[in-house]
Amino acid sequence: MSNTGSLPIRIFSKDILAAVKNNDVIVVIGETGSGKTTQLSQILYEAGYASDGMIAVTQPRRVGAVTVAKRVAEERGVQLGREVGYAVRFEDCSSSATRIKYLTDGTLLRECLEDPQLKRYSIIVLDEAHERSLNTDILFGLLKRLVRSRNTQRAKEGETEAGSSSSRARRLKLVITSATLDGEKFSAYFGNCPVFNVPGRCFPVDIIHTLEDHLSDYVSAAIDTVMQIHTSQPDGDILMFLTGQAEIEKAIGRIHQAVASLPAGSAGPLVVLPLYASLPPELQVRVFRPAPEGTRRCIVATNVAETSITVEGVVYVVDPGVVKQKSYQPASGMDSLDVVAISRVQATQRAGRAGRTKPGKCFRLYTRTYYEHKMPNVTAPEIQRSSLVGTVLYLKSLQLEVDVLNFDFLDPPAVGALEDALRQLLVLDALDSDGNVTPLGLRMSGLPLEPALARALLAARELGCVREMISVAAMLSSEHVFLAGQGPGDVAAGDHPHGQDSRRYVGLGDHVLLLRLWEGWEAAGCSREFAREYGLDLRGLNFARDIRRQLDGRQQRPSSPQCRWGGGTAPGAARASAAQVDALRHVLTIGFANKLARRLPRHNGYKTLHAVSGQLAQLHPSCAQLREDADGLLPEFLVYHELVATSRPFLRQVCPSRAEWVADVLPKIMSADVRRLSQGSSRGLGGAAGSGQPRSPGGGDGGGGGDRGG
Ligand code: ADP
Ligand code: MG
Repeated sequence: MSNTGSLPIRIFSKDILAAVKNNDVIVVIGETGSGKTTQLSQILYEAGYASDGMIAVTQPRRVGAVTVAKRVAEERGVQLGREVGYAVRFEDCSSSATRIKYLTDGTLLRECLEDPQLKRYSIIVLDEAHERSLNTDILFGLLKRLVRSRNTQRAKEGETEAGSSSSRARRLKLVITSATLDGEKFSAYFGNCPVFNVPGRCFPVDIIHTLEDHLSDYVSAAIDTVMQIHTSQPDGDILMFLTGQAEIEKAIGRIHQAVASLPAGSAGPLVVLPLYASLPPELQVRVFRPAPEGTRRCIVATNVAETSITVEGVVYVVDPGVVKQKSYQPASGMDSLDVVAISRVQATQRAGRAGRTKPGKCFRLYTRTYYEHKMPNVTAPEIQRSSLVGTVLYLKSLQLEVDVLNFDFLDPPAVGALEDALRQLLVLDALDSDGNVTPLGLRMSGLPLEPALARALLAARELGCVREMISVAAMLSSEHVFLAGQGPGDVAAGDHPHGQDSRRYVGLGDHVLLLRLWEGWEAAGCSREFAREYGLDLRGLNFARDIRRQLDGRQQRPSSPQCRWGGGTAPGAARASAAQVDALRHVLTIGFANKLARRLPRHNGYKTLHAVSGQLAQLHPSCAQLREDADGLLPEFLVYHELVATSRPFLRQVCPSRAEWVADVLPKIMSADVRRLSQGSSRGLGGAAGSGQPRSPGGGDGGGGGDRGG
């Protein structure tokens, strides 16, 4: 076993346990690498907190939950899935023997739907709270209520001595952990609960700012800095921050070239390793292995290395001051993924990475003036820059006595974003015109899919294409079905799987292509060769197969025997008929009614169909081939999966629809007006959003009718 006993958290375990014993909620602040994620759960376990319920530890990322559970099982010398397990979307590696369970925040939210009291847990650690992921923020609100309700219930039972000890509600404890100094904010939210600071073992870090800002060509500046460190600074690993996978892989190539062109003997060997969230876990853990004697490592990482993964041995940090951040504009429904400036909190956190093992240096590729006067103070939490469709449906499905608009958010989202979500859910029939969740909405939130896909899947039951829709949903949910650098646009018509047989399906866009690829792979016995031939990632396909099985299981009803896998084998080379492909396009139109676009007259640009403001957009170059008419025009109506702004607005992953299907949903899109909903709770809206938030144009500003029950 490793020397985990010397980690700061271990040294203070007695004090932490005393704080947990005396309080229902505590906040633990400790710098990255102090052992919050891997040790806290074990400390609680060893103190007996798992004797009448499990210990849950949430993680914002899937890979995080899996990697950490593996590590903790290893440290305890137990088999993963027994005493220590994990649960993430589409994968449950826990059992009745599990006492410590790592799970994504999203998975814990889903468990709340089935068991609102979360009775199986005695203590919940909301880990990495500083990341403020959307789902963690929702858990803040829900767990705050739950701690109160479970513990009052228990107190009442104690007074009346009601029930045997086994049927009594268990006390619920909550531990919130953070790597940054936002403890006071969390504490204030949880009724001024105690904040426990774990003193770090941080060595001084010398911070060097550049004399000019290098924010425009930060990659070249960062690479130059790495080379300077390597050729002139004493031993010690380098951690360089960049913004994403493609950028990281390219930069690594350039560093290799630069090292190769150094004069012989001018510097030692340099091992360059990537680190980003979508990197396969077995490649991620390479950063935990120290470099061989006499070798320097350079880890090129996204901001996962900022707070979630500790790279040991780092002495030099190169910080270009940027990060890739997603933001959503409710008015147009557009997502943008932009490289933006990091906040001062992040800059401090990055610099701290250099001082874990000995005094270090942080090279900032921006000026001191920029840092002091222009850099934002803090990063806006995800809840304030995301689409809230899934979140609002989820909260509505819990049927809390308090409405979504009055929900006790740590930082409330913008009113416009809540209204946008309400409007979209009305269009999908998940809410009725009073804003209550419908039976259909409840079924949608029970599926582990985003609302649009869930709606399409439910429609598929009516229209006879469940099997096809499950395949498409699984392929879309797997994310990496194409190899890096490959995409649907690279599968040419002539290459189409099934050859001549399926010519009539060619040119129907991404969803249909994904379906054909899935069916082709399945018919080819899930072979490696098929995957290679079409530029597909075998790991992604296997994941899609697992997802597919699960969705299939959920759809399984005695009356639908056709959508069942035979005992472990693929059900032959089942292929969609032309009618089923049509039905698939129809159900996508129903599910993605909020994501439809119409071609401009005599022009191959599109405009989204939106009640408030349609957005002009082009097809993204990565889109699968679409059939053109005799005039060279693309289909009039499209369903799109994403509207993204990169250099300009693009539609990604599209499927041609038909005028008659669009006509069915169009009245709903155009009339879905949240005025009634927001009037019904106008006080709530103002209250939820705090004062001073501008009302969006769609929201009524008339006096509240007050027809919504409190
Ligand atoms: P925190 O959550 O406070 O940031 P962790 O519990 O993640 O800290 O990490 C504690 C220590 O364990 C760190 O020194 C880290 O490098 C090490 N560690 C964490 N995960 C692994 C792993 N999978 N393999 C090897 N070392 C690990
Ligand atoms: Mg951690």
